[in-house]
Amino acid sequence: MRTESGARIAVAGAGVFGLASALALARAGLAVTVFDPARPGDNASGVAAGMLAPASEALFDATSTPHLALLRRARDLWPTFVEGLDVEILQADVRIEGEADWLCQIDARRQVLGLPQRREPDGALILNEDWRLDACSTLAALRTAASALGVVFEAASVTHFEPGALTLSDGRVEGFDVLVLATGASQRDGALAPETASLAPIKGQILQLDPGQAAGSVVRGSGVYLCPGAPMKVGATMEFGRDDLSPDPAITNPLLQAAIALRPALAKATVAIEVGVRASTPDGLPLVGWSARAGILLAVGARRNGWLLAPLVAGLVAAYLTDKDPGQDGAQLDARRFDQELEA
Ligand SMILES: Cc1cc2nc3c(=O)[nH]c(=O)nc-3n(C[C@H](O)[C@H](O)[C@H](O)COP(=O)(O)OP(=O)(O)OC[C@H]3O[C@@H](n4cnc5c(N)ncnc54)[C@H](O)[C@@H]3O)c2cc1C
Repeated sequence: MRTESGARIAVAGAGVFGLASALALARAGLAVTVFDPARPGDNASGVAAGMLAPASEALFDATSTPHLALLRRARDLWPTFVEGLDVEILQADVRIEGEADWLCQIDARRQVLGLPQRREPDGALILNEDWRLDACSTLAALRTAASALGVVFEAASVTHFEPGALTLSDGRVEGFDVLVLATGASQRDGALAPETASLAPIKGQILQLDPGQAAGSVVRGSGVYLCPGAPMKVGATMEFGRDDLSPDPAITNPLLQAAIALRPALAKATVAIEVGVRASTPDGLPLVGWSARAGILLAVGARRNGWLLAPLVAGLVAAYLTDKDPGQDGAQLDARRFDQELEA
């Protein structure tokens, strides 16, 4: 689909995909309105640890392993994407700590992937190519930057779209030509765009520890990560097929115990549980590009790397809407790549 210059663009969803896309579109000179009924940050993006971690993800998450090159390309887009914004990208080492046998298995996987590492005298494996940022303040910075470029924000939910007529939950019908669907895990029934029927939910519970560790390296252990910050985050569960937002200490207790085993001082911390739901596709990569439904452009299915992938996805959204070539990454993330499975 070609986009006429002057097209009125609506974005549904103010998570990191929606905000990054709105910012990229505004930078390209397009007029954008973002709709989201939730409070800013009240979504998966707001609870995330904010790790931009291609190496760790390829090493610890089998679904991400084949996508290491793409994840690295996405990470490398971050510094330019947030240049001039109030966003700090931290580039500290990742320490992998645990029993000797387990470290041996991880090191063998690392060698297969060709990831550079070094060993500390205490035996910890060190990866030095993963970054991180603070999720909540970065969401706010993206929103501020988008507003400064004229993006309008409205607290409303999109219920229906056809080119020229966007329907909102309060009954209003507004004149928009294109809808960018960045609704995270919320829309999965195919009603707004048939491709969302290929999304499955993965509930994620993450712990906030106070006092925790404010700065330093991310620590990865068996079945747990410790991400320094204010507050420190310890994560995260991967509860396949679940989309409820109820905190469940029985499920998160193993995370807490694993964290205390790595850093005994954390036994004294106050613990709060936060919950988000990730949307996943069959291959673990997002759906980005035109829907079969006229005028709808998808940016959904971020799974556990939505922060890492956001500038890459936003760049593709902007490419589609300015009639540029979305290139190799556009083909890999094509929004209609599961059409045949949905028809079968
Ligand atoms: C515990 C946890 C830890 C994580 N840690 C990391 C990490 O360290 N690094 C990383 O890269 N990723 C991480 N992730 C994954 C990452 O958070 C997600 O992939 C990403 O935030 C998804 O962003 P999104 O914009 O697609 O969805 P969301 O952030 O969920 O935003 C979707 C928005 O759409 C809105 N919406 C829904 N329906 C409508 C509608 N009809 N109209 C308008 N608006 C609508 C919702 O209100 C919501 O605000 C983590 C996830 C979890 C749960």
